[in-house]
Amino acid sequence: MNNNRQKGILYIVVPCYNEEEALETSANALLNKLQELKQKDVIDDKSKIVLVDDGSKDRTWNIIEQFYKEDKNIIGLRFAHNRGHQNAILAGMMYAKKYCDFTITIDADLQQDINAMEDFISEYVKGSEIVYGVRNSRKTDGLFKKLSATMFYKSMRIMGCDIYENSADYRLMSSKALEALSEYSEVNLFLRGIIPDIGFKTSVVYFDVFPRMQGESKYSLSKMLTLAADGITSFSIKPIRMVFGMGILALLVGFIMVIHIFYEHYFGYTVSGWSSILMSVWILGGAVLLSLGIIGEYVGRNYMETKRRPRYYFWEVLSSEDPENSFNDVKEE
Ligand code: UDP
Ligand code: MG
Repeated sequence: MNNNRQKGILYIVVPCYNEEEALETSANALLNKLQELKQKDVIDDKSKIVLVDDGSKDRTWNIIEQFYKEDKNIIGLRFAHNRGHQNAILAGMMYAKKYCDFTITIDADLQQDINAMEDFISEYVKGSEIVYGVRNSRKTDGLFKKLSATMFYKSMRIMGCDIYENSADYRLMSSKALEALSEYSEVNLFLRGIIPDIGFKTSVVYFDVFPRMQGESKYSLSKMLTLAADGITSFSIKPIRMVFGMGILALLVGFIMVIHIFYEHYFGYTVSGWSSILMSVWILGGAVLLSLGIIGEYVGRNYMETKRRPRYYFWEVLSSEDPENSFNDVKEE
């Protein structure tokens, strides 16, 4: 692998699902971009484009084969089934990790401005391990997409997931960041949440979004809902904590009620049976909610454990005992 941060090997990763209408135009545009970047001496000559066919049912794979035959800068990967956008991106990045210094992921419809790639690369050269693409505006989206996206990012924040608003999966990752990402072995994948969890030095690049030129959106409503559910549930056990909080609140109200009920009972303002029923409703209700919260806490912890996320990874290592395995960004002369 090339150690020169000035001119690294770039692999552009493109997830493609039923993209027969768009792929030819976009693959050509990407190849031109790759050529341009090589000519400008921004990236290494070994840089390539990885097209990941996410189990398409149309001619997508034939197109990829054709491109591969004509241009060896193309790499084709094909899933046997439709595994979803997030898995397609991950597969492409994990494949590329072995050969490149950094990857940029971009959608196959090229709605995202490919000219922003230079900005991504210059942030990488300056030392960022992860560069997020954040869209300038949502002007090109329909009202429904705009509303649902805003709601989604808001609820993610409330649930405690650290996520850049309007950050699409247009993103640069260095090989070091990819190595860290490969340690996350969870099945419900939500890259926009996991990647900020990695840490490391990051920066942001703003880009324009265009309307889709060919074909239709491959993100059906059900795919969007699944993504949202994955995002919320894979990052937080806050909903369980809310139940716990409600239990405590109900118990508190219960105790205040007990005092109130005794007072009313003592002065004889009550109908018979009222005091005992009301007391049991509040105290028992609170106790049930609290117990659910406690059980939930264990279930939640169990859930987090089963993900087997990495506890830590080193950003840099300086060690004279083991210089072989030392790594940091300062290159020795
Ligand atoms: N995609 C994928 N698998 C899927 C759905 C979508 O690989 O199951 C890809 C698709 O080919 C495109 C990217 O994910 O490259 C984003 O999809 P799309 O442009 O349809 O989403 P939108 O821009 O409408 O949110
Ligand atoms: Mg799109």
